[in-house]
Amino acid sequence: AESDITPVIATRRDETMSWLQRVVSKGLGWARKYSLFSYPYATACCGMEYMSVAASRHDIARFGAEFPRFSPRQADLLLVVGTINLKQAPILKRVYEQMTEPKWVVSFGVCASSGGFYDNYAVLQGIDRILPVDVYIPGCPPRPEQVLDGLMMLQEKIGGQVHKIADKGQPNPTAAHHDLLAS
Ligand code: SF4
Repeated sequence: AESDITPVIATRRDETMSWLQRVVSKGLGWARKYSLFSYPYATACCGMEYMSVAASRHDIARFGAEFPRFSPRQADLLLVVGTINLKQAPILKRVYEQMTEPKWVVSFGVCASSGGFYDNYAVLQGIDRILPVDVYIPGCPPRPEQVLDGLMMLQEKIGGQVHKIADKGQPNPTAAHHDLLAS
């Protein structure tokens, strides 16, 4: 029978956890940071660098993040790669919402992080206006080494977070970001 509990992530340290819960949390964090399944939301030229990172020369497989998933329900890492215009913003938000917890977001390149030099009426000036971003990777485009550095930063962050088993009804800690697009 399907379990009625689901793993969720808490973003702050929980002092009420027992020794066993802390061990489980560390184990879950270790497993999750080395088995990331990314959803590459690639819209523009940064996509070329994403392909380079995924290919054999830079070999993102060494970091346990080699399998892209093109269904948000199978992904736990949203890679936003390239320029996001305002017409795409609701679609990107919808993709994020369809991903199951726990999940993380990486902003890949300056266009995703701040709009880059597309400072105009049509472009979203940073995906953090609609999504909770965990790691920003600078560059136009970022070099593959920068992307791998950003991935290692994310892994370090995941390893330091509290992971626990909780009731399905527990609120999403990132839910506050969901309303930003509407405001
Ligand atoms: Fe293209 Fe530069 Fe924007 Fe990346 S950051 S999508 S390379 S313009």
